[in-house]
Amino acid sequence: GNLVRVQAVQNITNRKPMPPKAPEPLSSLWSSDVFTLSKMKESLPKEVFKSVKKTIEAGAELDVSIADVVALAMKDWALSKGALYYAHVFYPLTNATAEKHDGFISVQSDGSTISEFSGKVLVQGEPDGSSFPNGGIRSTFEARGYTAWDVTSPAYIMTTDNGATLCIPTVFISWTGEALDKKTPLLRSNAAMNKAAKRVLSLLGHTDIAPVNSSCGAEQEYFLVDANFVNNRPDLLLAGRTLFGTPAAKGQQFDDHYFGAIPERVQVFMQDVEEQLYRLGIPAKTRHNEVAPGQFEIAPFFESANVATDHQQLLMTVLKNTAKKHGLVCLLHEKPFKGINGSGKHVNWSVGNATQGNLLDPGHTPHSNTQFLLFCGAVIRGVHKYGPLLRAAVATASNDHRLGANEAPPAIMSVYLGTQLDNVFEQISNGKITGSLNAGQMNLGITTLPVFSKDAGDRNRTSPFAFTGNRFEFRAVGSGQSVAGPLVTMNTILADSLGWVADTLESKLAAGTELDTAILETLKIIIDEHGAVVFGGNGYSAEWHKKAVEERGLLNLKTAADALPILKEPYIEALFDKLGVLSPVELASRFEIYAEQYILAIEVEAKLVVSMTKTGIYPAAVKYLSDLSTTLTSLKSNGVELDNASLVQISSLVSSLTDSSAKLSAVLKQHDFATIEEHLQFCAQTIRRLMDEVRVYADALESEISDELWPFPTYQEMLFIK
Ligand code: ADP
Ligand code: MG
Repeated sequence: GNLVRVQAVQNITNRKPMPPKAPEPLSSLWSSDVFTLSKMKESLPKEVFKSVKKTIEAGAELDVSIADVVALAMKDWALSKGALYYAHVFYPLTNATAEKHDGFISVQSDGSTISEFSGKVLVQGEPDGSSFPNGGIRSTFEARGYTAWDVTSPAYIMTTDNGATLCIPTVFISWTGEALDKKTPLLRSNAAMNKAAKRVLSLLGHTDIAPVNSSCGAEQEYFLVDANFVNNRPDLLLAGRTLFGTPAAKGQQFDDHYFGAIPERVQVFMQDVEEQLYRLGIPAKTRHNEVAPGQFEIAPFFESANVATDHQQLLMTVLKNTAKKHGLVCLLHEKPFKGINGSGKHVNWSVGNATQGNLLDPGHTPHSNTQFLLFCGAVIRGVHKYGPLLRAAVATASNDHRLGANEAPPAIMSVYLGTQLDNVFEQISNGKITGSLNAGQMNLGITTLPVFSKDAGDRNRTSPFAFTGNRFEFRAVGSGQSVAGPLVTMNTILADSLGWVADTLESKLAAGTELDTAILETLKIIIDEHGAVVFGGNGYSAEWHKKAVEERGLLNLKTAADALPILKEPYIEALFDKLGVLSPVELASRFEIYAEQYILAIEVEAKLVVSMTKTGIYPAAVKYLSDLSTTLTSLKSNGVELDNASLVQISSLVSSLTDSSAKLSAVLKQHDFATIEEHLQFCAQTIRRLMDEVRVYADALESEISDELWPFPTYQEMLFIK
């Protein structure tokens, strides 16, 4: 092979393996880097602790009078863990985490230093927000934003090569009060859902109703590639995915990677990751190989949506940092390699509280099942009314490569319920419960609803939104995405639906209808008006795609360019505004930012395609042509005539390559678009088509020219050498 690649393989062969750490007992690791409630209890005066605990449980703002005491205890703990800095961590409207570090150090008037951390800086910070996207919310004269501690998410210590830092999870808000981050709307959406859920529960006759919270357990897929290879792939370095490359002879067709033995190097990496996650109080639970070679999954146990979202961000950071330490690169991109499965993030989501439990759990009695059916029905209604919004919530340039391909859910949002639930809803729609799959004949009222069996065996892997026994699983989320947006969307559409359920029940009850009948009638309306979104068949089939659009009226928004403009629809603006999740200005800013990110991502990739072609692939191809033609001529002069077919074939590929690359270069100069929507479509259609065209010729050349000259690490090397 080519020198650079030979060197890379040598480096990998000669590297000293990272020694596995002696496993520490979980009890000593667990949350050791988190300023937990129990640590607060130990270090705070009793009255202060009580007040903080109450604040955390209610999700309210911390009382300034006690903030100083909490800050002092937190600082002492952080110093004892070796932290010299603290940071307000926030989640800007990219999928990244941002933090501003400040030292605890404070210089006294006599020149000596002390460490200082007041309640004021614990509770509120002022990062220079001007470099974060704000989608036009802030004009330059009010460019500052502020961060405020989200007391419901605990502070923790993050240790990197640069030392240890006390991290404080915060919201990020403009001085005019607009949310500039992903956490604020998540907290608001949870509050809206709580309010609506409580209304329904109280109409169902509950008197003791604890706050209803959403929960999230996210399954994270990722790839690991040796850093020696990545450093020689500008596309992986800058875009996170390969823009060129022919699939290896051995892909995933043998399916022997899935649940296969985890390679030793990867196992050492995973153990390191898990240990850090445990220290951070993140309940990492399952780990296994994924379908594609070099692909893996980690799934922490579910937690409250807000904390799970912070933990998800942390988990991605830990994965990336730890990979670096192990000489690997962790790719969170949705489609790093063509021809093998991409990566997603399945977001498992449920809602519940301390008094009624998981409201999406069917439970053991017909009575709890009625309640379950109402909440489940509310989700169905939400996905039907706002399916395009769900699609928009997972719309990124990178996720375009996954949705709609035959491995991930299709871009059409539908709900999978499983046969038993399907059957129950069908009976409700028919006006009477006449029987169930496992409870024999029935022709009575709601009190005889069957006890549900968990439908775990019947999981439809092609559905983007599936009921999986006691939760819904949103499978269209991108592996590199924050889970905040999808959770905001699910909480918000559920809040809207539960509000409608409460209104409907209220008016029926006021008209003198019995509760049981009112519930059945409400469920019937839901299934009659929104049942079109329920689908249990093969989501990949062409038949479904046609039927979904033509008969069921569902939208097939194939690319993010198609999906993002949904955010501008009046009915979406009304939804977020009415529920107090996002104001029209905040929503508009999100469209601006996500559209801009889409355009930027595709433009960066297109530029890489042009430069890798010009400086890597073209030179290799012409060098080979020149060598080949010299050899053929010299052989001929010695009386040996070889067929020159490959010379002709390769030259034709080279000219097609340069032609298409020149066309791509030219369209990249186009900058005048009437609307941002037009620009989005231009990226999705024109630019991408030309990128694909260049790739066809480049990939063909990879299989034609001498391996010795090929400048970039190959799929085979990247996926199979570890
Ligand atoms: P699978 O791969 O079969 O979908 P996993 O066990 O890998 O399942 O992941 C399931 C995820 O769902 C885990 O994060 C788990 O904690 C989470 N989960 C389980 N129950 C709930 C629930 N009630 N609400 C939210 N998430 C849940
Ligand atoms: Mg799953």
